[in-house]
Amino acid sequence: MQLTLWTYEGPPHVGAMRIATAMNDLHYVLHAPQGDTYADLLFTMIERLPKRPPVTYTTFQARDLGGDTANLFKNAAKESFERFKPQAMIVGASCTAELIQDDPGGLSKALNLPIPVIPLELPSYQKKENWGASETFYQIVRHLTVQDTKISAATHISQRQEKIAAGKKPSCNILGPTALGFRHRDDIKEVTKLLTMSGIEINVVAPQSASPADITRIPQADFNVVLYPEIAQSTASWLSRMYGQPFTKVVPIGVNATIDFMKEVATLAGISEEKVLKEIKSNSSWYARSVDSTYLTGKRVFIFGDATHVIAAARISRDEMGFQVVGMGTYSREFAKDVREAAKSYGLEALITDDYLEVEEKVAELSPELVLGTQMERHIAKRLGVPCAVISAPVHVQDFPARYAPQMGFEGANVMFDTWIHPLMMGLEEHLIMMFREDFEFNSNVPASHLGHVGGAQTSTNAVPDSPAYFETEVPVIHQEQHEQEEKLSSHEQVTTQQIIVDGQAPWSAEALKELGKIPFFVRGKARRNTEKFAQEHGMQQITLETLYDAKAYYSR
Ligand code: SF4
Repeated sequence: MQLTLWTYEGPPHVGAMRIATAMNDLHYVLHAPQGDTYADLLFTMIERLPKRPPVTYTTFQARDLGGDTANLFKNAAKESFERFKPQAMIVGASCTAELIQDDPGGLSKALNLPIPVIPLELPSYQKKENWGASETFYQIVRHLTVQDTKISAATHISQRQEKIAAGKKPSCNILGPTALGFRHRDDIKEVTKLLTMSGIEINVVAPQSASPADITRIPQADFNVVLYPEIAQSTASWLSRMYGQPFTKVVPIGVNATIDFMKEVATLAGISEEKVLKEIKSNSSWYARSVDSTYLTGKRVFIFGDATHVIAAARISRDEMGFQVVGMGTYSREFAKDVREAAKSYGLEALITDDYLEVEEKVAELSPELVLGTQMERHIAKRLGVPCAVISAPVHVQDFPARYAPQMGFEGANVMFDTWIHPLMMGLEEHLIMMFREDFEFNSNVPASHLGHVGGAQTSTNAVPDSPAYFETEVPVIHQEQHEQEEKLSSHEQVTTQQIIVDGQAPWSAEALKELGKIPFFVRGKARRNTEKFAQEHGMQQITLETLYDAKAYYSR
């Protein structure tokens, strides 16, 4: 196990907590040391759920280790059953408890509780959170639908076909949404809307909002919709083998993928494609075609996150936004193959890692103009001064917005258009501010023009700072000294070239530095780095205006 400051995924028992917290009337008894209750905060502080997760921790302490920790577990399981009266329980151990080998499954079996008790074997030292969530969901479905496995898959299929022939609507389950998932709450609503609009009934949504009783009804549906393969694919594969339920392979993130998804659903439900496609309405497709292509088309984008969202974001970037995907990767090792294959179609080699420092290095090396990633990439992009939008878990509190903000379906495509384009469009506004900053009417020492009646273009005594706060973040810390010089220059102060030698780089001439200041802020960092690299590689002693243009010509070849 590696100790690290940030991690993309928690241990597998956190995955099990995501399933338990998503469901109703299910309780999780977790053999875990005292400190493990921290995991509750993920749900209450990050996701802002109004209740604690349905988890009882045994919370053993160091002094308990010489004693009867097995009994501690048995008491906790018995008391949880009496107190919460769940329809079913899951039991397991966290990383540390795994080492004391108390066997929560065997211990709870000995209690003879009158409800299903599902033991979880989650190898904490080999597997991670998404795998833990997937395995927990699979074990719950397997244990609770077991009575239906006595008849063959073929019998299940013919029973369902008879119902449809008798006039019943085709039905499906929606599988995969969990607690702490990126926009799962809103994706369910959006996908439910698409399916019901097409005349398909929703049998069960699970694990989110399903009770153990609901899980027992899963085999009744005609097919399964897999929203998040990381969580639901292994369960859907098992359901396909046991009950002959086919499942969707396309994840409806992006306009094109949503259309493909609807076609796939039409085939699985045995209904006409025309019917499911007739309601399509999407703002994002038209918006993407109508935005100023000079500024947006060909933007170099780097994408990192879980496999589902990365594969979808790459397709949207290239086919719907006109961006150029310059790098992509995932921390989901179980789905590395899928991401590698997708990356190949963009002429790239996927970055498969769970080390955020490696991701940071890659971003710095590629100098993209937009980063689409997780909470980690948001920090990385901020440090490097690159615009960024979050597309995947792990996420932070602001990624559980109060408003409706799905990623899936046509509304999801609209939300993504706004979220991704916004940082780039803001760049345009910033560029205008920079262009007009010395204008007599618009410079930073005069009040806003709409306040003309209180002083107009007179110099304000409450002058606003010379540049907006977010301008500061664009310049990496190591270049602060140079940035200050750029600021002075644009204020018409006298600066000699000797004053702007930074980090052993060839010094910038005042003229070149002033020209650099005219480049829009969102590409300025890259232009500066490229020019410095060019000067270094060509052994130049000073960066002049000519060097700046030569570097531009060189890198745009
Ligand atoms: S048991 Fe695992 S999750 Fe809990 S504190 Fe130890 S390492 Fe972290």
